[in-house]
Parts: sequence; C-alpha cells; structure tokens
Amino acid sequence: MAYTPYSTVWVPYPWFRGRVTIMGDAAHTMTPYLGSGAAMSIEDGVVLAQELAKNESLLDAQLDFMKRRLPRVRAVHDRSIESMLEEFDSVTDETYRARIDSLRRDEPIANEYANRLLRMPY
Ligand SMILES: Cc1cc2nc3c(=O)[nH]c(=O)nc-3n(C[C@H](O)[C@H](O)[C@H](O)COP(=O)(O)OP(=O)(O)OC[C@H]3O[C@@H](n4cnc5c(N)ncnc54)[C@H](O)[C@@H]3O)c2cc1C
Repeated sequence: MAYTPYSTVWVPYPWFRGRVTIMGDAAHTMTPYLGSGAAMSIEDGVVLAQELAKNESLLDAQLDFMKRRLPRVRAVHDRSIESMLEEFDSVTDETYRARIDSLRRDEPIANEYANRLLRMPY
C-alpha cells in the first residue's frame, strides 16, 4: 500500500510536431481526484475531429485544437493537483492514527499493511 502523491504529466505547448498530434494522457496525465482524465481525453478527440473537419490545412486544425484545449485542460489538470494536495494537507497525526486503528479493528487482514504504514513517513 503506497500513500504518496500521484505524479502527473504536462507536455509543453504545442502538442504536435509535423503530422503527429498527441492528446489525452500522453499530453496531460492528471491526478484522479476530479475523475476527469478520461473526460479530457475524449474531449480532445472530439475537438481535434471538429477542427480537422473545419480547417483546410492540418496546421490550422492543430493550432485551433491547441487554442481550444489548452486553457480548459490546464485548469482541470491544475485543479486535480490542488484537490490531491488539499487531501494530503488535511491529514493530521490524529486522523492518520484513527485510519490505521480502524483498519486494525475492522479489517484484520490489513494489519500487516497498517504496521508497514506506521513506519512510513507521509
Ligand atoms: C485507477 C484509475 C482510475 C481512473 N478513474 C477515472 C475516472 O473515474 N474518470 C476519468 O475521467 N478518468 C479516470 N482515470 C483516467 C483515465 O483512465 C485516463 O485519463 C484515460 O484512460 C486516458 O485515455 P488515453 O486514451 O489518453 O490513454 P490510455 O487509456 O492509457 O490509452 C492508451 C492506449 O495506448 C496503448 N498503447 C500504448 N503504447 C502503445 C504502442 N506502442 N502501440 C500501440 N498501442 C499502445 C495502451 O495499451 C492503451 O490502450 C483513471 C485512471 C486510473 C489509472
């Protein structure tokens, strides 16, 4: 059992080179605290399809894709990190101990993990 912050990915502008465009987790992996990683990935696909249908040139489609996606995805990405940090910041020694005690009491099989957790700094 690991209790450490998630790592994230944020590929700097632009998310394309030549004919290749990246999107979804390849461009912007976020923490699961907003449950929005898949939503953002699906939106990327829809928006790129719209821009490809609208624009004559691939480059214009890619630039318009970036214009539409960057502010929205950045906001959701950053908020997912803030939510995670808020949860980590809310953990006090007292709440941490209470969680370990409840694992010991209600889930005996977790005892081994509880003991390991107590030895880990958080
Ligand atoms: C435990 C967990 C829970 C989550 N819960 C939520 C949630 O509740 N709501 C939400 O919105 N998001 C959630 N997410 C995030 C969400 O799963 C991702 O943001 C989303 O799947 C990203 O989609 P993607 O298509 O960009 O990447 P992926 O889903 O990772 O798809 C990439 C695909 O490419 C394939 N691939 C990789 N390399 C190659 C290669 N060389 N050749 C061919 N294929 C390759 C992989 O096998 C994979 O199928 C969760 C993620 C995790 C890990």
